[in-house]
Order: sequence, then C-alpha cells, then structure tokens
Amino acid sequence: MLKTRFALPFVAFCIGSLSGGRQALATDCAKPVDFLTLSLTKTSNSVHDALTQAYPGLTIKAGAVHLVTGEVVPLEGPRKVSKPERLENATIGDMFVYRYPLDFSLEQRKTPFHDPGRVRNEAFFRALMFDNKSATRKSLTTVRYRGAKLTANFSVTKKHCVHTQLAAALEEIALQKPSRDKYFRKIGGSFNWRVISGTKRLSSHSFGSAVDVNSQLGKYWKWLGVKPGKAARYDNAIPHEIVEAFERRGFIWGGKWHHFDGMHFEYRPELILYARLMGQ
Ligand SMILES: [Zn+2]
Repeated sequence: MLKTRFALPFVAFCIGSLSGGRQALATDCAKPVDFLTLSLTKTSNSVHDALTQAYPGLTIKAGAVHLVTGEVVPLEGPRKVSKPERLENATIGDMFVYRYPLDFSLEQRKTPFHDPGRVRNEAFFRALMFDNKSATRKSLTTVRYRGAKLTANFSVTKKHCVHTQLAAALEEIALQKPSRDKYFRKIGGSFNWRVISGTKRLSSHSFGSAVDVNSQLGKYWKWLGVKPGKAARYDNAIPHEIVEAFERRGFIWGGKWHHFDGMHFEYRPELILYARLMGQ
C-alpha cells in the first residue's frame, strides 16, 4: 500500500495566537473549556496544533502521535484513495480531509462523502479512549439534561473531561428559549459498545464520547433508503443554537455529514480547533 506522508496540504502560516479569552485547558475537568473562543497556539502544522490542544498530554514526534499512556499511533496521510476507502480504513491524516464547518450552512454536506468527523482512525481512538467495553464501562458517569418539564440521562465517559464538557453544553441548552425539551424526548442513547450499522467500524458510542438526542427529530441518512454517497437530501429539524452549544464544548454534529446522523453529537474537539486554525 502506498503511504504518503503529507506536508504541504496542512502548512499554515504562523501568525501567533488567535483571538479569544484566555483559558486553561481542562486537565482536571473543573472548568469546562469553550473551544470556540479558546486561545490557540499556531505553528506551521495545524493538524498537530489541533490534536495537541484538543487533548492535553498528547504529543507528536517523528511522524506519530504519542499518548500519555505510552501508546504510539502513526500520523500518516492524508492518502490519495477513493472516498469510500478513506471512510472505511482511515489514517489520522485522513480525518482532517473534510473540514468541519463551524457555520450552520448545510451546503457542504451535499457533496458525496463530505463527512467531517465520520472518518476515524480506529487505532487512534482505541488508544486515546478505550480498547474494550469493560474499560469504557469503568469510566462512565451519568450526565443529565434538565429541561423545564423533562429530564434526559446520558451515560458518558469521564475521560478527557467528556462528562463536564457535555454537562456544560446541556446546561446552556436547557436555558434556551423556547424550551428545547422536545429534542431530548425519546433520546437515541449514549454509551453502547457496538459497530456502526452495516459496517465493521467501531462507533464512537463505544467510547462513551457520543450522545444521540431525539432520533425522530434528528433523522438518519439510511432511513432515506439510499445508497452511500446519495444522501444529499436532508430536512434538518435541529436548531442552530443547540448545535452551537455542543460545538462550544467540543462536540461535532452528525447533521453536517453527507451521510447525516442528525441526532448524533460526538466529542471531537480536534475538528473544532482545526476549523478555527484554518481560518474558518
Ligand atoms: Zn450516535
């Protein structure tokens, strides 16, 4: 297999820090991080910057990601492969090919396979999060949406402060007007060690780092009855304000994917930061 190390596509100009409030990275989870305003350090490599500032303790040297546990995952790509192949068997570099849009335009997702965040290197996430079901289970806690007339419970991991980041997002949403309760009725779920429907790829729900809100309002591309790459039509029902509250706390939204999963929010702060570092 051809392995191409990338250099040029991700070179960014070093212009110092982006504007925004100064905040310490939440290594102790005491204070939730606002990833939309966090002050960022910019070097010549935005992929490196995004990963190291999203996950404190992670370092990158000699073409590999080094985790605090001592595990090492090669940082290769992006590769010149077909879009289905990239999705099926992604490298870490491949994960940054489709830029996650921070605005609420759903235009980009109409392009077949424009799935920013759905492209995941499994070895990286197994090392970053957990390698098996019982390890995830031991790290779980319950985080609640407390609406005016409804409470919804999500079972998520404490690793990388996912629980406090989620709690902050849900707190913001619960204060929004009109009431957002209907989006938290009949929620799709949270922790579940499983593969993605119809694939051999592990779902991010396996790591306790993803939640599904109301599945009927969120909708899912497969319910259109179309083939992969043919899911351009998406009648979104999730308000911008809900999506932005999640994004502020590091969660991306599956409604911005070509293969939309509008109920799905997943902790991927590296993609929020990468979008900002690339000047979006
Ligand atoms: Zn989901």
